[in-house]
Amino acid sequence: MNTANAATSEKNTLSLSTLPGDDVRQIMWRFAERFELQMAVQSARSVARGVVARLVAEGARNTHDWTEEKAQVLRAFDESGLTNVFMEPEDGGFITGPKNLALALVAFELAWVDAGAATTSMAGNLALAPLHERGTPEQVRTYMQRCAAPQPGEDRKPWHGAFVLTEPLPYVGVDTGVLSGKMRVASWKEGKEPILQVEKRGRFITNIGFANFVTVAVDSDDERIKGSCMVILEDTDEGNFDAGSMTLKLVHQLSSTGDPIFNLKVPASRIIGGYTIKDGVIFPNYSHSEIIESVFRRTRVTAAIMSSAKLLSAIEPIIRYQRGRFRGGAGSTPGTPRYDLGIQQKEDALHRLADIWATGEASASLGFAAARFFDEFDSLEKEKEKIFEEQGLKGRAQLKTLRAAQEEALEFMELDVQPGKKRDAKRHEELKAKPLVQFVIGDSMANVLCPAAKLWNTGFGTTMMREAVSLMGGYGITEDCPGFIGQKWMDAQLEATYEGPEAVQRRQLSVTMTNEVFLAQLRQWIKDMRVVAGQRPGTGACTLAKAMELWDWTLQHLMKAKDADGKALYHGQRHGVTFPMADALCWLLSTRCQILDLIELEEKGPDNPVLAENLAGTVQFFTDLCHVQAARAAGEVGRICAELVFGYNSHPSWESEPKVGCNVKAGPCVCMDEMRPFVELRSKLDGCLTGSRLAKDRAAAALSQVMIPEALDYPA
Ligand SMILES: Cc1cc2nc3c(=O)[nH]c(=O)nc-3n(C[C@H](O)[C@H](O)[C@H](O)COP(=O)(O)OP(=O)(O)OC[C@H]3O[C@@H](n4cnc5c(N)ncnc54)[C@H](O)[C@@H]3O)c2cc1C
Repeated sequence: MNTANAATSEKNTLSLSTLPGDDVRQIMWRFAERFELQMAVQSARSVARGVVARLVAEGARNTHDWTEEKAQVLRAFDESGLTNVFMEPEDGGFITGPKNLALALVAFELAWVDAGAATTSMAGNLALAPLHERGTPEQVRTYMQRCAAPQPGEDRKPWHGAFVLTEPLPYVGVDTGVLSGKMRVASWKEGKEPILQVEKRGRFITNIGFANFVTVAVDSDDERIKGSCMVILEDTDEGNFDAGSMTLKLVHQLSSTGDPIFNLKVPASRIIGGYTIKDGVIFPNYSHSEIIESVFRRTRVTAAIMSSAKLLSAIEPIIRYQRGRFRGGAGSTPGTPRYDLGIQQKEDALHRLADIWATGEASASLGFAAARFFDEFDSLEKEKEKIFEEQGLKGRAQLKTLRAAQEEALEFMELDVQPGKKRDAKRHEELKAKPLVQFVIGDSMANVLCPAAKLWNTGFGTTMMREAVSLMGGYGITEDCPGFIGQKWMDAQLEATYEGPEAVQRRQLSVTMTNEVFLAQLRQWIKDMRVVAGQRPGTGACTLAKAMELWDWTLQHLMKAKDADGKALYHGQRHGVTFPMADALCWLLSTRCQILDLIELEEKGPDNPVLAENLAGTVQFFTDLCHVQAARAAGEVGRICAELVFGYNSHPSWESEPKVGCNVKAGPCVCMDEMRPFVELRSKLDGCLTGSRLAKDRAAAALSQVMIPEALDYPA
């Protein structure tokens, strides 16, 4: 047997023995060393598979209203400690430092069973997020402590909040620049705090059925107030705090949603982040858009991770269903393939399941990578704020400083990739120590990772949930379907909608992905993936590197090129060009994160004695899933780029002379020499698909052999 065959044969004998458990996930998603996060996961899991699963199984989703029954979820969050995951230790929390990964893990566990329940938890945090990001110290303390779960022996009803940005048509939803919510000065006595009249109508507001306070976005309707802001309103404020009519949702019925109406008098101290008074005019310290920008850049990751949980949670019920189907008939006895494998005898069923699993892995990898990234980025962001404050930099002055830091960031990245001996070490160290330079690098990542996770995980995730439903046949579309798969499919569409639907994420990406600092990082990843490919050929890393190169070439081309009518191709309003490129980038990012998680498992797994026995088979399976996903990503990227590169040129007319070399066709053929590099790259990319279908066959075989528990651990 030659070496290549020996390697293939060894691969064929390695297989996944059981579904990946916590030991595997803790390594892949990097919380093996963090006991407090493991505790949060356990708490969320017990709530999800206990109270939440029971409610869903008993049909609590069949009502739109917020009922006493559903309110059990809130109590379960308090009692299990989940409410306090968002809080700082001084306010009753138990996790120090940034909590993006913690909140992502909690959302993942809850959404594994029901994303409506996950949303109830998330929306409470979303209400507090404007305060967390921009609130004055008093505002933060007051509301965090009111919302924290009561400690044992404490007789207090915890508060709940709602975040109110979206307004009735035709205003805020996607375009948050225009607000119909208004505020005026109601009274302002000499030497006293101004009292504001705040009017806001919300649309589709989560948690409104039980909110004690709301954080709302409003614009000034008074010359004594400058610009927009966010304000806190309480249900006991003077005036009207009306939850309004409940939304007749088809999805997420374990969260409360309605169209509230507010018309209240509140002291100006409720303006989030405070205000200053100059010449008799109130200047809020932060506009509503500054606040929502910093809120959404994190919280969208939590929504993204909910869809990942759905895909991965579908695997076990599908395997169980597939194996039990087709058992009827006299010849079907234990030990026969028909009895043991059921539908899993059929290649298509297994291949499609492998695709669902691969997508789930890639989206979880991207979502958790984004969450971890924001935890790390937090300190850089704070340092930047401090520098701006110390130097009194505002508005344009801030932008100018960041532009200068951008130049240095590019210089740093160029030095960073040079071999140690060649590089100007002094300058490298100098730039490394500059917080603003490091901030700019991180910021370029943050601006891409968050919308990419939100867009791809929820958008393509929903498409793949439909595949999951289809693999359960008719059962999939019933309320009885184990794992609530049908409901999860519908629910996923909401995750793709709220916190900014797909168009919002694509718009953001179309601007942020052309940032040279981000592109410099992408080019470094191409090199890194080539190294990975050399060491781990079966991962699809080489395919991914080539697909990244093709995407980069296409972007550069589109930014310079014009269409057949001489109009610029890469342009803010030209969604037909920019949006597909944003979609293509998401495929690349998610596959890269998936491969990096695999490497983590392979490297750190051997340190865990529990994993030792099955590690090789698990790693082989995840390697094959990476390869499957890389091939799919390459296909999507290749298709999108080819359409954009060629699709905006007009086709030669059938009357014109065919160009030399193109006369074998019945009609005229398109020959564009300037596209030759693209054609070469794309054809190499196709060649990189070598082995990807063998990987799919191996993954499919593993799926037919993996052991699963006797029954799901939550009611169907
Ligand atoms: C169950 C539920 C809970 C929610 N919870 C909250 C909450 O707690 N707080 C809150 O503030 N909001 C909440 N929302 C609102 C949610 O964020 C909005 O529904 C969402 O942002 C989409 O806005 P819209 O419904 O106005 O859609 P529209 O803006 O009408 O969008 C319709 C379609 O047009 C596209 N589109 C719109 N504008 C553009 C554009 N400029 N370019 C290209 N395409 C565009 C959109 O992508 C979408 O596909 C919730 C919504 C639901 C359904």
